[in-house]
Amino acid sequence: MKKFTAAMLTMALAGAMLTGCGSAASNTTADDSAAKDNTAAAATDGGTLRMGTNATFPPYEFVGDDGSVQGIDADIAAAIADKLGMKVEITDMEFDSLIPALQSDTIDVALAGMTVTPERQESVDFSDSYAKGVQVIIVPEGSDIQSPDDLEGKNIGVQTGTTGDTYCTGDYGQEHVKQFNNGPLAVAALVNGQIDCVVIDQEPAKNYVAANSGLKILDTAYADEDYAIAIKKGNTELLDKVNGALKELGEDGTLQSIVDKYINADAQ
Ligand code: GLN
Repeated sequence: MKKFTAAMLTMALAGAMLTGCGSAASNTTADDSAAKDNTAAAATDGGTLRMGTNATFPPYEFVGDDGSVQGIDADIAAAIADKLGMKVEITDMEFDSLIPALQSDTIDVALAGMTVTPERQESVDFSDSYAKGVQVIIVPEGSDIQSPDDLEGKNIGVQTGTTGDTYCTGDYGQEHVKQFNNGPLAVAALVNGQIDCVVIDQEPAKNYVAANSGLKILDTAYADEDYAIAIKKGNTELLDKVNGALKELGEDGTLQSIVDKYINADAQ
């Protein structure tokens, strides 16, 4: 089992005050009756919070043994819905379908380890950030790529429509970037020698590297980012409720306990 530095594991939630003493949220559904005393529950009470995600992104989202979508984002959505007196319904889709699904009202929220970017902010609104993301580089052990400075002229695998895709296409040109529908497909191409590296988010990268021998994550990251919940542009009512719930979940330790459930601190 590969060890990672403390800094790499500091995937922590955006608030330094989180203390990790709350109980973990229930899974993909929330009990309608559970949030009667919550001020945020007004218009949403009893409704369904339709969450979109792409469940190839562990530990944020993955398909569990029972076939349901699980992970940090599913638990956070359940905890928010609990605060709002709603239940969660999760739809698993391609990552680059999430923003169109918000725009067409197919889903209410996208929780997908989604990075806040100025371009996306033109299409959707984002909640307050609930986690830090890091774009890292996965290479085969023994690769001559030792840092981001060595990527010039290499064949880089990315997940379509992600920030890794956008950065690499911008920095190295479309001809050097091979897009895949999800991270596991990009990593499979790396294992097969079809590409030289994969640029992808750190926590999924750790999972992919643990599942495939002969790969490693470079110590130098490609970019630091903030994850947030995307909501249809202009739906300020839901945005305010989600932010209110996130604030409470941060203050009472629930967010930290959800992260702790999936990200193993003893790897430090
Ligand atoms: N954080 C990256 C992005 O927002 C990747 C997210 C994902 O693949 N689920 O583009």
